[in-house]
Amino acid sequence: MNPKLFQSICNAPGIPGFEDAVQEIAAEIFETCCDTVTRDPLGNLIGLKKAKAASKGTQALKVMLAAHADEPAMMVARIDGKGMIKFRLVGGVNPVMAQSQRVLIHTGAKKPIRGCIVPKDADTKIDDLRIDTGFSKEKLETLVPLGSPITIDEDASVLNGKMWVGRNFDNRVGNYCLVEAMRQVGDTHVDVYAVSSVQEEVGLRGARAAAGRILPDMALAIDGSMTKGAYDDGDNLCEPGKGTGIYMIDNLTIGHPKLVKSLFAMCKKYKIPHQLNIGGGTDAAAIQQCPGGCIVTTVGAPVRYMHSTVQLCHADDIDATVALLVKFMENAHELYANLGC
Ligand SMILES: [Zn+2]
Repeated sequence: MNPKLFQSICNAPGIPGFEDAVQEIAAEIFETCCDTVTRDPLGNLIGLKKAKAASKGTQALKVMLAAHADEPAMMVARIDGKGMIKFRLVGGVNPVMAQSQRVLIHTGAKKPIRGCIVPKDADTKIDDLRIDTGFSKEKLETLVPLGSPITIDEDASVLNGKMWVGRNFDNRVGNYCLVEAMRQVGDTHVDVYAVSSVQEEVGLRGARAAAGRILPDMALAIDGSMTKGAYDDGDNLCEPGKGTGIYMIDNLTIGHPKLVKSLFAMCKKYKIPHQLNIGGGTDAAAIQQCPGGCIVTTVGAPVRYMHSTVQLCHADDIDATVALLVKFMENAHELYANLGC
């Protein structure tokens, strides 16, 4: 794992629709390893690495990898009579978890404004919560434009051993894995479209647009895998430290069974630690349903306590995910041929 790159990707603010800071980091790396790097009208960043060795006379397969750059967060809705900020959710933030958090308000000035989400009752709705910045109403109105993005003030750090903690490992872990895999991958026999997608947390909006433009033959979404944790485990299968998760099903997608099987075989062959996952919902759903359809599933390191402000992820699982992505790209032509689809 490359901790410096990982931390810079995790610590960049990127609420849905405002992913520029994350995209700039990914773009800088894609410039060094892709043939073209473009942004589409929604803000998706697309690095295209062309096939070096497509078989003569045939068009190279199009393989898409997508990792969303956004994190569920908030936006300034209005400043009330007491000079407190009322905010609107952008993506799935839990009102219980939001209370008592410190936040950063990104106003466009060099330094964000710091604030705290003032605690209320346990059954409080997000609409009832306010952010206190310590500034007067008059001063605040000069500093904070309505619509400013708000993120939780929590940087990624090592919790203990190889376990990291951060506010947005869904999906900055996935985003890091995509970027790092592109940095490491050798020549491929397929055209690889590496997409750092936008607005996943508000309904897979970016990936839908990107897939509609690319029309890939085969794709992987890269996202967190749900894990067993401190409380009810539900159907969660994955455990941190035991390898990258390969989705067989989630709430929006049934992973292509032959692709899932092939990924398991590939991981076995290259000794990449892996485990089966039942997931929540990812960009894979939007990609699968692009015009003409696409063979997809999702892969990703287990992330404990997703959509909380204390998400945990194990460094070995991050490395395993990068290894899977690299081998997938390098073997995608054979893997696809063997699917017999
Ligand atoms: Zn996600």
